[in-house]
Amino acid sequence: MSSQREKLLEAAVAQSFNAVVITDARLDGGGPHIVYVNRAFCEMTGYAAEDLIGQSPRILQGPDTDPEVIDRLRTALRSGSFFEGATVNYRRDGSAYDVEWNISPVRDDGGELSHFVSVQHNISDKMWMRRERDLLAQALNVASDPIIVTDRGGAIVFVNQAFERLTGYPADEMLGRTPAVLRSGAHDAAFYSGLYAALARGRPFRATFTNRRKDGSLFHAEQSIAPLCDGEGEVTHFVSVSKDLTERIERERALQEIASRDPLTGLYNRRAGEQALELQVQAAHAEGTALSLIIGDIDHFKSINDRHGHPAGDRVLAGVGEALRGAVRSRDLAVRWGGEEFVVLVPECGAARALELAERLRSSVAGLQFPAVGRVTMSLGLATLVAGETAAGLVMRADRALYRAKHGGRDRVETAAALD
Ligand code: GH3
Ligand code: MG
Ligand code: MG
Repeated sequence: MSSQREKLLEAAVAQSFNAVVITDARLDGGGPHIVYVNRAFCEMTGYAAEDLIGQSPRILQGPDTDPEVIDRLRTALRSGSFFEGATVNYRRDGSAYDVEWNISPVRDDGGELSHFVSVQHNISDKMWMRRERDLLAQALNVASDPIIVTDRGGAIVFVNQAFERLTGYPADEMLGRTPAVLRSGAHDAAFYSGLYAALARGRPFRATFTNRRKDGSLFHAEQSIAPLCDGEGEVTHFVSVSKDLTERIERERALQEIASRDPLTGLYNRRAGEQALELQVQAAHAEGTALSLIIGDIDHFKSINDRHGHPAGDRVLAGVGEALRGAVRSRDLAVRWGGEEFVVLVPECGAARALELAERLRSSVAGLQFPAVGRVTMSLGLATLVAGETAAGLVMRADRALYRAKHGGRDRVETAAALD
């Protein structure tokens, strides 16, 4: 090798930003000893070159140096093979640093192992960031509220244990999928476009979601979804933190349900019936669908009370309520409208089919047999919503038809004309 080239190589190693240390290849007793260190190695370790030359690299080791890594290193040196590893080393002042290093055997012209050359990096910053990241991931994991992190495209990159507990989905089943897996069908397209529009503008979105667990059951969670941006302000991820409201919402619904029921018959009470009617009238007008309303009143009920007593009258009311509930379709709403007056709301049903239903109601009441009281009958009026009509208008027409049924001899159904 020309001396010029030698000088170049020496200068290159000496000035390299990587820490370089060269040892002899002694493997007996004290092991290899340092024959060369560059400036970067001195800076990394805090030793002067003259403190290191002639020493074993072991002087860098300390309490947190991983003995397994050092064992692996010894084996590699003995077999003259390449080594790569990472552990904790110590500076001259005793402070620790994370080091990642490799060692290559150097052979002379005769192929004899003469030295080892090692290139080392201080990876403390990298390790610190990794530890911080692990710490944050652990913190997210033990947080009691469910957390989801997705990438920009919506693919899930992290869910915590609270999420797993809430939804029944293990994390590994969710990774790579989108939160759409959880959709229950409870929200319409407008709900999701509101969500996407907010996120596309880099805005957070907060709403109460009704989603589906892995076992098919529903849960309610107030979810806060916020975009995460990189240094340039580009969205890279979305983070969703939720609060499980299932218990609260189910309790509220149960209370609402109790408050909307008539205790004697178990049917909806007047207030709930009026609210439902109002909504159904709006929906029928908005969607151009039919809506019929049947109103029924027990015939000569006063005389049942008079002859058999109020409690017997109550039993008749409960029996009639049960018969009505059994005769209507699941989407129809049977309401105890007043004392012995009942209303059935029949959405998406025109006059002809509503008349069939009213007849069925009449005959099922007429078919009841009460101990001591015997049979009762009911008169019914039926009206089908016309264009522009209000809920009150519809009830009024059905009521007039009921009046005609009473006057026509009771135990019968009358249908209101459109202009009644
Ligand atoms: P019509 O055939 O014309 O309907 O005659 P009716 O006797 O049924 O008519 P009316 O409306 O005069 O009588 C209704 C009776 O229902 C009066 C009231 O005492 C009774 N009533 C109202 N609410 C209850 C209740 O909760 N329990 C009982 N047992 N009776 C009730
Ligand atoms: Mg009455
Ligand atoms: Mg009556």
